[in-house]
Parts: sequence; C-alpha cells; structure tokens
Amino acid sequence: MLAARFLAINNLQLTEEDVPKPGPGEVLIKVKAAGICGTDAHIIKGESASTPPVILGHEYAGEVIELGEGVTTLSLEDRISIDPNTFCQTCYYCHSAKEHLCLNLTALGVDIDGGFAEYAVVPEVQAHLLPPSVDFTAGAFIEPVACCIRGLQQARIQPGDEVAILGGGPIGLILLQLAVAAGGRVTVSEPAQGKWGLAKELGALRTVLPEELPSDAFDVVIEAAGVKATVEQSIKVARRGASVVWFGVSPQGTQAAIEPHEVFRKELQISGSFINPHTHARAVKLVGTGAVQVEPLISHRFPLGKIHEALAVHASGDASKVMFIPS
Ligand SMILES: [Zn+2]
Ligand SMILES: [Zn+2]
Repeated sequence: MLAARFLAINNLQLTEEDVPKPGPGEVLIKVKAAGICGTDAHIIKGESASTPPVILGHEYAGEVIELGEGVTTLSLEDRISIDPNTFCQTCYYCHSAKEHLCLNLTALGVDIDGGFAEYAVVPEVQAHLLPPSVDFTAGAFIEPVACCIRGLQQARIQPGDEVAILGGGPIGLILLQLAVAAGGRVTVSEPAQGKWGLAKELGALRTVLPEELPSDAFDVVIEAAGVKATVEQSIKVARRGASVVWFGVSPQGTQAAIEPHEVFRKELQISGSFINPHTHARAVKLVGTGAVQVEPLISHRFPLGKIHEALAVHASGDASKVMFIPS
C-alpha cells in the first residue's frame, strides 16, 4: 500500500509498504478520507513532538475491512471516524479524570501509524461509528471539531456575549459555528479577505482585518491562528472580565509579549485548550445533524500520491482544509 511516512525533520516520504495486520482488539480500515492539520506541518518542521518513523495523519475516517481477535463492537463494512489520542490509564492525570493531559499520551498519526495511507490499523476503542448522514470526508473532520468543542468549553460563552475569533481558517470557522450555536455574537478577524464570505455564511456578524478589531471590546476572545501577533492581540481586544482562549497551536519556542498589568486590571481568564477530552462523540452528533457544517471548509482534494503538492498548498495560506481522498 502507499503511505506517507515521516522519517526525520523535513523528511516525509511516500513509501510502498505491506498492508498491516490488525492485532487483538484492533481493526483494519480502508482509509476513505484524511485531512491535513497544521500539526502535521509543525511535526514535519520539527516544531511539534512526534515519534518517527511514523505514518502521519490524525484526522481520518474509513471502512472496517478486517477484524482482529476479540473485537466485539465493530463489524465489517462499519464506517468509522478515529479518535487518535490514547492514554496510559496509570499516571496522575489519568487517575484524576484528566486523561487528555496524560504524561504518556500517544496519538495515532503522531506517534503510532495513522491515516495518511491506503490502509490503517485502528484500536477498537479509538473508533466512533459514523451515522448515515456523515460521509467519509465529514468523518475526517470529526477530530478537529472535537478539539474545537474543547475550545468552546474553555471559552465559557454566555448567550449574547461579544466573541472575537482571531483567524478564519478551517479551525476558526468551526469555532465560529460552535460559538454561534452557544449564543455568541461573533466577529471573525482574518487578513485574507477571500475567506470573509464563507465566515459570513457560517454565522459571523462581522468580518474584519486584524488592524480593524477594536480594543477592550469582547467578552470572549478565541485565538485561532497560533502566531505571536494574534496571541498578543487577544489580550488587547478582550474587555474587562473577559475569557481568552489560546486555541491556535503556536510552534514550540514561540514567545509573546504580554503585559501582566493588563491581565490584572482587566481580570482576564486566559485558558489553553488541549485536544479532545470526551468530545469526539459530541462532534459526531454536531456534524451529523448539520449543526456544524464541514463540507464548505474543504478547499482542496488530493490523492495520497500528491502529498508534497498538498502540503505546499496547505502551507501557502490560501487553502482552507486540504483533504486526501485515496481512491
Ligand atoms: Zn489536528
Ligand atoms: Zn496517563
């Protein structure tokens, strides 16, 4: 089978490999769709942790074609999306109902072979059945939607809150839909004006250039770009008592200039948001009912053999979500 294997920093290669065998408690899937995430680009550049050599791809969906020994909850031809994150169940955090903060966290597509391949082995416990209303491309979006639900939990939006989302990429536009569903009045800040129309269609009241965002104006600010400038701006545009969520994944080592006095005087609550604690099933429901629309967020589709071209399009900043459709 064809696979995209990350071997070392700046070295991702298309490889021809044997189709893996599912072990006990695992299933083999035919991958039907997989999305490129900013994290994949960070991993390739050495800006985010991983365990090479590994097949990347942690946002994917597929069809079950072989059952390992002892699998009881899945059947052949089941359509599944994958929650990539696996926990040790023995560390302090796992024992404190904070499994997503596990000291020994590993993830499919980061540390264990993932979805940028024609076939993939998936532990039964990581699989979530897709309802008939969710096709495979939407199924490959469940993981980022689940992460965005965590972001919304951290944001604590109240109905009527003025919400600023800094960044109008696919993550920003998922956060937008969740914030609107929570009753927020959402302004999306995005320098690429070509992305404004879709943001409006998906519920944004206003779309603005970053420099047009007013200071001291928002009850909730969600940073969704992962760059220094927007992290710094998130504090400026927050009003007194605001909740600020740094959702975007800044490269490891990035430093931002924050004035602690401003955080003090405004009594800001600043939160991170890390992966998807118990939110994957919620994401399946929200995508399945159409409460979160993901189809409009796909800007490019590639076969897996064009992974380098696909990564270049992703890096250009002009793309929204770039998807692999293997067949
Ligand atoms: Zn991701
Ligand atoms: Zn643990």
